[in-house]
Amino acid sequence: MLGRALARADPWDMVIVGGGATGVGVAVDAAARGYDVLLLEQHDFGKGTSSRSTKLVHGGVRYLEQGNISLVMEALKERGLLRQNAPHLVSDLGFVVPNYEWWEAPFYGVGLKVYNLLAGRYGFGASEILSREETLERLPTIKTEGLRGGVVYYDGQFDDARLLVNLVVTAAEQGAALLNYSPVTAFTRDTEGFVDGVVARDLESGGEIRAQAKVVINAAGPFSDAVRRLAQPGAAPLIAPSQGIHLVFDGSFLPASHAIMVPHTSDGRVMFAIPWHGHTLVGTTDTPIEDATLEPRPLEEEIEFVLETASRYLRKPMGRADVLSVFVGIRPLVRSGGPSNTSALSRDHTIHIDASGLLTITGGKWTTYRNMAEDCVNQASTLARLPEKPCPTRHLNIHGFHREAGKFGPLSVYGSDALLIQDLVRAEPALGAALHPALPCSGAEVVWAARFEMARTVEDVLARRTRALFLNARAAIAMAPRVADLLARELGRDQAWKDAQVEAFDEVARGYLIAPAATP
Ligand SMILES: Cc1cc2nc3c(=O)[nH]c(=O)nc-3n(C[C@H](O)[C@H](O)[C@H](O)COP(=O)(O)OP(=O)(O)OC[C@H]3O[C@@H](n4cnc5c(N)ncnc54)[C@H](O)[C@@H]3O)c2cc1C
Repeated sequence: MLGRALARADPWDMVIVGGGATGVGVAVDAAARGYDVLLLEQHDFGKGTSSRSTKLVHGGVRYLEQGNISLVMEALKERGLLRQNAPHLVSDLGFVVPNYEWWEAPFYGVGLKVYNLLAGRYGFGASEILSREETLERLPTIKTEGLRGGVVYYDGQFDDARLLVNLVVTAAEQGAALLNYSPVTAFTRDTEGFVDGVVARDLESGGEIRAQAKVVINAAGPFSDAVRRLAQPGAAPLIAPSQGIHLVFDGSFLPASHAIMVPHTSDGRVMFAIPWHGHTLVGTTDTPIEDATLEPRPLEEEIEFVLETASRYLRKPMGRADVLSVFVGIRPLVRSGGPSNTSALSRDHTIHIDASGLLTITGGKWTTYRNMAEDCVNQASTLARLPEKPCPTRHLNIHGFHREAGKFGPLSVYGSDALLIQDLVRAEPALGAALHPALPCSGAEVVWAARFEMARTVEDVLARRTRALFLNARAAIAMAPRVADLLARELGRDQAWKDAQVEAFDEVARGYLIAPAATP
């Protein structure tokens, strides 16, 4: 647990269910205003969608095409604030839209100029029309046949799980209490039948957690309806879940400082190929699904679609054997119209209050998490009749804040914490060695994650404190025994625990590998 002690006589001002971008953002906002906050996450922070995004801090060029100007302007402003508050995790990236038809340069050139203008003083860099040669300079591995030129524009890129972990620490520093591995299983009610607390399980001790609250906030992302049904079994669904996959390749497929943005794939979607942590990330898809699960699996047709689309633009032939990792996230899309007229559609996120008094916040995107949290805490504090307090998060530095974090090399994502991780290596030089030749993760990061970032399992370290599983699933599987050793040393666990951890990680990690194509 990070932050304040759990046992208390008075109810919390707010209890939050769900430790993704939405819930942790709300915890930061509420704690920074001075409210008493407890957050409970059923698995690890970021286990849901918030570690599985395309890792873009963006206004959404797609929304611009749909004419949703206010949504784009809001997201562009949030993009600027996030870069200002977490410069160690958010960086500018140039995106090139390659042009193969004569009309594409003027069409996308004008559209992307508007995109840039809408950012106003939060702009990331002017868009430009590129000649064929200028396009090739930026994207040396792009297919040249029929290439006329391109348009370059600038957006933000980040490491989603690392930002989440830093937000968890920020919330704790502001006075919130946050627990992972604590699923909420039921709600308690007052004499009038309104939700006034939660019952959760502590998965490590097997014990029960009971917490009273003036307001309970459901921030369970794609699981929001399941949580609403704990309070109201017949609740009409608010969410229409849809999954998206990403394939990760080594950096040789796009050895560039720029990303590729394809505004219209063969079936009208947007597709990105992005350099990320020395690798190439390609995605995504948009496939409606029935129910959310914690480890969603890619469909065969999604894998084929991403491979086929990327192969149209990248010169180096790519096949299934080149995929180092495939990961899948579930969008918590809000059903149009909401379940009833009590739902208040607010830009692209929704705040919905059930008859039981349970407040649900869902939809939106990573980029706008801060603005969503501000809106949520405004409404939650009114519902709970709490004294009004101003929101300070526009100019609140996120833990690790460092303007020149690039100088820390592979530790740059830790920002100012990199210095302390370097101290760990000075004290025990063996911790400085990379755990696998294919990735720069070191033993010191494992120790750091266990001591200061609430990592409890091998998966927490390899999937979300470091990004090994998302970058190279085979390398992550090979690293697991050494990570288990180091974690056991930190957490005081025995050999049986280590064996069980390695086995459990192996099972999860196999879902990030794709099988070779079946021979006909
Ligand atoms: C493929 C894809 C790509 C995306 N790319 C981008 C992008 O590039 N940029 C961008 O801005 N946005 C992007 N998004 C959107 C963004 O990732 C999501 O909007 C955001 O992560 C949602 O966060 P959340 O906290 O609402 O949900 P989640 O991250 O899923 O968090 C909900 C949490 O609630 C927990 N929970 C559920 N039930 C319980 C319970 N009973 N008790 C306790 N905890 C519980 C879950 O375990 C989970 O951790 C993308 C989304 C997808 C799917």
